[in-house]
Amino acid sequence: MTQVASADTGAPYDVAIAGGGFTGRALALALASLAPKGFGIALVDAEKPHAGPPPNGAPPKQDARALALSAATKNLLSVLGVWPALEGGAQPINSIEITDSPLHAELRPHFLGFEDVLNADEPGAYLVEYGPLYRALEDAVAQSGAIDIFAPDTVADYAADAFSVTAKLASGGALTARLLVAADGRNSKLRERAGIKCVSWSYPQVGIVTTVAHTRPHHGRAVQHFLPAGPFAMLPLTGNRSSIVWTEEKERGAEIMALDEAGFIAELARRFGAKLGELKLAGPRQSFPLALQIARAFIADRLALIGDAAHVVHPLAGQGLNIGMRDVAALAEVIVEDTRLGLDVGSPVGLERYQRWRRFDSAFSAAVMDGLNRLFSNDAAPLRVLRDLGLGLVDRAPAVKRFLVREAAGITGSVPRLLMGERL
Ligand SMILES: Cc1cc2nc3c(=O)[nH]c(=O)nc-3n(C[C@H](O)[C@H](O)[C@H](O)COP(=O)(O)OP(=O)(O)OC[C@H]3O[C@@H](n4cnc5c(N)ncnc54)[C@H](O)[C@@H]3O)c2cc1C
Repeated sequence: MTQVASADTGAPYDVAIAGGGFTGRALALALASLAPKGFGIALVDAEKPHAGPPPNGAPPKQDARALALSAATKNLLSVLGVWPALEGGAQPINSIEITDSPLHAELRPHFLGFEDVLNADEPGAYLVEYGPLYRALEDAVAQSGAIDIFAPDTVADYAADAFSVTAKLASGGALTARLLVAADGRNSKLRERAGIKCVSWSYPQVGIVTTVAHTRPHHGRAVQHFLPAGPFAMLPLTGNRSSIVWTEEKERGAEIMALDEAGFIAELARRFGAKLGELKLAGPRQSFPLALQIARAFIADRLALIGDAAHVVHPLAGQGLNIGMRDVAALAEVIVEDTRLGLDVGSPVGLERYQRWRRFDSAFSAAVMDGLNRLFSNDAAPLRVLRDLGLGLVDRAPAVKRFLVREAAGITGSVPRLLMGERL
């Protein structure tokens, strides 16, 4: 479906969203279910819709990632009515263990654990596989009836004036709205067209992701081994399976990715250890370039950036999407409140409020991940002594651990109401 709107017809949409990844779809759903009746929403996505089996729909999107979703993200997905579709396949994280050792170590001693401060009734995080999360959001958007979908198509350019913004589609059409949201990922075209620069650097590391099956149960325990090349995370999935997020130096990462299955499993087992029994691959392997990237502004004239278009962080604490969902909840709250007051949702006042809410918080989270990666991804003995002393001290301080768990759950600071599970 492609709608052509000429400038003199006014703005047929209140909000047009460029990008139908997790954050773009979550924002579309939040506005569809919470904004007043008649609120116009357009969603443009480069991907072909997957509804129905091929050849009608494209094959389901393949991605080896599983995502650690914070309690706050779960609250948001519950308000949006998406969580019930995910619940059966979501693995709660019941305990967390952190170790710090060289690769050749026979044992990886426990330095920091969180089981004493995690609440079994309300876990701080859940592991959900990429495919089911994508499908749940895609189905909910398709069924909402209040969102006009333009896919496959992309927003190639845009122009804003005092009253509206026009998004030019690659297919040749155009959409007019009060506000354009860039949810178009880390290489955001709209951010570039707006002339927004980023503070960014690439890590000399890649993130290797795969799924393994093991013979013994993990009991919902997430393990992070800090190794000299970078963190190696074993994240529990439903059944006797774990998702692996394995940070390696770039060159070594390419060598590991090129190994045959037996060689890859042997390298993986050196890091994974023997606690969970025999290992076998239970999913594809995929390698991601890693970077830190923060947009210098999250807004421009009638434009707001959300998700990876606004910030990309190191995946060591599984926070990238959770930070993006905080953008979704904050922007939805600003838009819904302004609409109820009869205000223009693309006005600088509302956009400034969104930026103040989200930019510092995102930059702070990115800096914390960056600092942890720098502190742990090395083999310097004096640094290891210092950081292990620090981990040991934190391990003996339940109040500090409770604070860290609340931070990871996304429920500290000025929290948008959707993340507390409240409807607006
Ligand atoms: C190895 C790894 C592990 C991770 N693990 C976790 C984790 O455990 N927990 C967590 O919270 N986060 C994690 N993340 C981060 C998380 O994957 C991302 O933050 C998240 O997927 C970003 O979602 P998004 O919707 O912002 O962007 P994207 O998923 O990149 O979506 C962008 C969408 O926009 C579309 N698009 C692009 N250009 C245009 C255009 N011009 N017009 C229209 N559409 C366009 C694309 O087709 C795509 O559908 C991980 C990341 C990596 C690399």
